[in-house]
Amino acid sequence: MNYFNYRGDDLYCEDISIEELAEEHETPLYIYSFGTLRRHYQVFDRAFAEVPHLVCFSAKANSNIAILRALINEGSGVDVVSGGELYRALKAGADPRKIVYSGVGKRPEEIRYALESDILMFNVESSQELEAINDEAGATRKKAPVALRVNPDVDPRTHPHISTGLKENKFGIDIDASLEEYLRARELENIEIKGVDCHIGSQILELMPFLDALRRLRDLVKCLRSEGIEIQYLDIGGGLGITYDREEPPHPDEYAKAVIEEVRDLDCTLILEPGRVIAGNAGILVARVLFTKERDGRNFIIVDAGMNDLLRPSFYGSYHQVLPVRKRKRETIVANIVGPICESGDFLVKNREIPSFKRGDLVAIMSAGAYGFTMSSNYNSRPRASELLVSGSLASVIKERETWDDLTKGETIPEFLMRY
Ligand SMILES: *Cc1c(COP(=O)(O)O)cnc(C)c1O
Repeated sequence: MNYFNYRGDDLYCEDISIEELAEEHETPLYIYSFGTLRRHYQVFDRAFAEVPHLVCFSAKANSNIAILRALINEGSGVDVVSGGELYRALKAGADPRKIVYSGVGKRPEEIRYALESDILMFNVESSQELEAINDEAGATRKKAPVALRVNPDVDPRTHPHISTGLKENKFGIDIDASLEEYLRARELENIEIKGVDCHIGSQILELMPFLDALRRLRDLVKCLRSEGIEIQYLDIGGGLGITYDREEPPHPDEYAKAVIEEVRDLDCTLILEPGRVIAGNAGILVARVLFTKERDGRNFIIVDAGMNDLLRPSFYGSYHQVLPVRKRKRETIVANIVGPICESGDFLVKNREIPSFKRGDLVAIMSAGAYGFTMSSNYNSRPRASELLVSGSLASVIKERETWDDLTKGETIPEFLMRY
């Protein structure tokens, strides 16, 4: 359910025509629907209403501070994976007591920053990290609240790049070694054990992998308690999938019902870290067709957005629906939509039947609200796109388009090269 709909032949975001926005703000352009974002958050949060829980939106899906703020206003916490994301969350106004910090490679400065910010807990991914946190906490004279991120070795049956809960993935501590690790953690002077954490992957379309992981987590919580280790929080990560094409992921209500069934008797506060399911279908990327060409029966539609703006198709072979911003009476053709980047892997659509777009047409690349802008880069020295947040008939620029000046920010030519 989202608020990108046609009125007549024109695609709208809430009450504003996309064409109007593209004319005014130029392309490539990310457009987010506030109504959709809020609705997705509320549906997800309410699904867990009957148990004590905290939703921590995963900032890496979309870390624009306006997007974070919109969710924080609804009561959301934030799941961060770097000092930079922690900075963004705090700048957006997040309550530090609702921030969890995951990630396999936390630097000492980042750990210190999180300790000084009094976050809810660190999700710790290795025994060396546990020691590093203990050391930093000692230096800061704080007790570091931690959960251990366990790797439950379940197959989320998703794309290999976004599977994280298999033994072969780099994430977490082997669940079979985790009891030992908890016993070690208990002995560390500056560590306070708060919970158990896991995150098995992303774009998961079935309940089974979640339930397999949960059952293993449940057993672990019970085992820890029998050792006298207090577990207050059970963080089950994110990962619920969305519809990009024809996928039929479980509705958040179904997901919540199944999860609650497993944890109801555990007496833990549940932490959830959804990203994609909240933001994915709340945003689109709008691009303009620069040129079209045909070679040996292959059709190429060259647009002004590339893999530097939206990496997912190139990186994961992901499907994004493409819609005309204005419907016209055109035949359909099998074509590739490609960007301006000098890489053959720079495509948004591969060999798909689509309307035969012409020069100057605007195309909407749907479901780009998560892992869109956050994965964008300046490759080929392309300034990053601007981002708009639409609420009803109000459109706000939440990120200005980068300029060429921004591209060389921080770069200097050393003196010795200037002598020539
Ligand atoms: C990426 C990530 C999430 C969010 O995953 P989604 O599939 O977007 O819901 C949650 N937790 C952690 C630790 C992550 O790395």
